[in-house]
Amino acid sequence: MLTSSPPPSTRYDPQYDPLVAKTPGAGRDYAPTYWVASAGPAPQDDGPIQNDIDVDVAIIGSGSTGMSTALYLAQEHGIAAVVLEANQTAWGCSSRSGGQGQNASGRLTRSQWIDRWGIDTAKKLDTEIRTGFENFKALTREFHCDAHDGGHLYVAHRPEKVAYLQEQTRVRRDIFGYQAKMLSKEEFQEQFCDERDAQGAMWEPDGVGVHPLKFTFELMRKARSLGAKVHPASPVQGWQTINGIHHLQTPGGVVRAKRVAVCTGGYTGQQMTPLLKNKILPILSNSVVTRPLTDAEIQATNFRSQTFMTDTRTLRFYYRLLNDNRLQLGSRSSITGADAQDPQHLKLLTDAIARKFPPLAGIQIDYSWWGWVDVSHDMMPRIARPDPLQTVWHAVGYGGNGVAFSTWAGKRLAQRVAGKDSDHAVFNLPIYNSALQYPNLFNVVRSEAFAPFRRFGQYFLYKWYWMQDEL
Ligand SMILES: Cc1cc2nc3c(=O)[nH]c(=O)nc-3n(C[C@H](O)[C@H](O)[C@H](O)COP(=O)(O)OP(=O)(O)OC[C@H]3O[C@@H](n4cnc5c(N)ncnc54)[C@H](O)[C@@H]3O)c2cc1C
Repeated sequence: MLTSSPPPSTRYDPQYDPLVAKTPGAGRDYAPTYWVASAGPAPQDDGPIQNDIDVDVAIIGSGSTGMSTALYLAQEHGIAAVVLEANQTAWGCSSRSGGQGQNASGRLTRSQWIDRWGIDTAKKLDTEIRTGFENFKALTREFHCDAHDGGHLYVAHRPEKVAYLQEQTRVRRDIFGYQAKMLSKEEFQEQFCDERDAQGAMWEPDGVGVHPLKFTFELMRKARSLGAKVHPASPVQGWQTINGIHHLQTPGGVVRAKRVAVCTGGYTGQQMTPLLKNKILPILSNSVVTRPLTDAEIQATNFRSQTFMTDTRTLRFYYRLLNDNRLQLGSRSSITGADAQDPQHLKLLTDAIARKFPPLAGIQIDYSWWGWVDVSHDMMPRIARPDPLQTVWHAVGYGGNGVAFSTWAGKRLAQRVAGKDSDHAVFNLPIYNSALQYPNLFNVVRSEAFAPFRRFGQYFLYKWYWMQDEL
């Protein structure tokens, strides 16, 4: 008797975990995010791969990194790339984020750049990230993406963090020439909102909040209008390189590519390519969006602005008032996908709303979701070619700070894939010229052997950070 395997499920899988599953699925529905509910229909795409094809450049992943790479390959290098997406277009972080477009790339602050690489490199890196941010800002003006250009507020969540923010303000002003300024608790609460954790805040003028899915859809429209092809429901399930040609196996056929750009972020499966195995730690981040606040609630919380905020906790909260007066707030979540639905993770966010904005305690949550952010060994991204003998490049490792920088990473990645990176000094910066590394033990030894224990480490670090943040 002939048996056939059942078609893969297309239902959203809330327990998906990149360290466990081979791929994020095939044609799965979007996570139930506010962005998906409010973006309107996805732009036209090119349908799933249906037979074997030969292409010059294949891009794996259709988030803002992949779409931007496709856009700049077409616009600046005349290369019409083929984007392979496992699920719906922009299905990963790019339809799940906080939409906070910061003048940043990875997780490290500018002071940490100086500590790590010295002031000269830090200044060059600043010029690069700032240029990328300006490029993002220009795109937010061109695109319909509900952009709010109001800067960023870094909120001291306890009194002793005020001195830390004063120092951050000094570094931004005196060393990097930004117009950042410190606000007292009273100034912050009067001018922005009555956030009760706040003991003061640093305001920096660079920060554009966007509707991240509308933004990514616009990148996609533009890339396709220039010749790129976008194939949803086409997960790369196997990868062989034969005589220098990459054979990417998808359910509908093999894509034979001369060059491959990997843009799979926190959704990078362990088995996709040995080049990335155990080099990225996927970390789950949660987000909620409330029902629209009433006029009385806006008054009670004194919301006067949609400027987005993050607080100084290591396990930080990020939050902002959206265009339709809903509050979005997010923070870290569970460690494994299997545990993601445990109500304690949602409670962390609803408790934070009640603590930060007491008049909103118990407010109805209309949307709740989570997604995997990509964390590298040093919390900074890598836009690199990991093996000079292979025609494979990647842009990954934003550590939850990729809304703005991913478009610039895509532009730089396109340059590299097109072979236009050899004589640019900018590619000597650490995010371009150094490799992703395996995890380390006590900052002493790096080894892939530690990879299976990363989540134990994460568990203890979360406990330690929580004690530092809250006690
Ligand atoms: C809850 C949350 C909040 C965040 N908030 C912010 C924020 O406020 N500000 C900020 O700067 N950043 C934030 N981020 C991070 C930000 O969203 C991302 O850095 C940014 O969207 C860039 O994502 P990306 O394109 O690199 O990856 P993604 O958007 O995750 O795209 C990767 C894609 O690769 C696909 N894929 C994976 N494997 C395969 C395969 N084998 N074959 C084919 N396709 C595959 C996936 O399906 C996925 O769609 C947040 C992330 C999360 C999850």
